Amino acid sequence: MDHTSSDMKLGQSARPEVMTGTDFETRSDESFSSVNMTSSHLEPYIPASTPRSADLIVYLDLDGVLHHEAVLWHPNRGIYMSPYEAAGHTLFEWLPFLEEELAPYPSAALVLSSSWCVKPGYAKTLERLPEQLRARFIGGTYHKRVHGADPGTLASFQSTPRGMQILADARRRKPRHWIALDDDAEDWPSQAIDNLVACEGTSGLSSPEVRRELRRKLMRCTAA
Ligand SMILES: [Mg+2]
Repeated sequence: MDHTSSDMKLGQSARPEVMTGTDFETRSDESFSSVNMTSSHLEPYIPASTPRSADLIVYLDLDGVLHHEAVLWHPNRGIYMSPYEAAGHTLFEWLPFLEEELAPYPSAALVLSSSWCVKPGYAKTLERLPEQLRARFIGGTYHKRVHGADPGTLASFQSTPRGMQILADARRRKPRHWIALDDDAEDWPSQAIDNLVACEGTSGLSSPEVRRELRRKLMRCTAA
C-alpha cells in the first residue's frame, strides 16, 4: 500500500490553509480505522484521532541533524544559531544531504520529531523548508491541533524521552517501516534501537558515516 503520493496535501502548495496550522492528521483512512491499538498504557498525550501514515516514515529531528545542535531562541528573533557555540554554522545547512539521501525514495514520508513541533510549531516549521521536502511531511510527533494545546498535555509530551515519543507515534501511524534521524538517543527504547540513525549534535547529517547508516537502513526498509 502506498498512502504517500496521494496524501501529500502539503505538496499542493496552493492550498492556503496549509500555512495556517491546519491539522493535517484528521483525514480518516479505512486502512487504519479497524486497527485497535494496545497502547492504552502509553503516554497520555496520544490522541484518539486517526493519523496519516505511509509505508516508510522517517522521523526527522532538526537540531543536531539538519544543523548544529547549538540553537537559541529569542522572543523577537525566534530560533537562531548560537554565534558562540556554533560560529560559522547556519540553520538547515545540512538539509541538502537529507534531500540527496531521500531522492531515491519518492514515497518515503517525513514526520517532524523535534522541539520545533512545539516552538515555533509544525506549520511554521514547514514553512521554512523547501517545497519538495515539505511535500513529504505527513505530521509531527506533537501537533497542538491534534494532541491538544493544554499545558498538561504539552508537559507530558516534553517529559517523554524522544525515542518513546517516536515509538508512540509509530504505534499510532503503523507504518510498515520507520527510521528515526536523531541526535538524542537518551533512554531510547531497546526494541526500537535498530530504527535509530544516531547523529552527533555537532555534525548531524554532514557526517559521511551517518549518511551511510541512513542509506543502509533505507535500503533495508525498501528491500524488505
Ligand atoms: Mg536534536
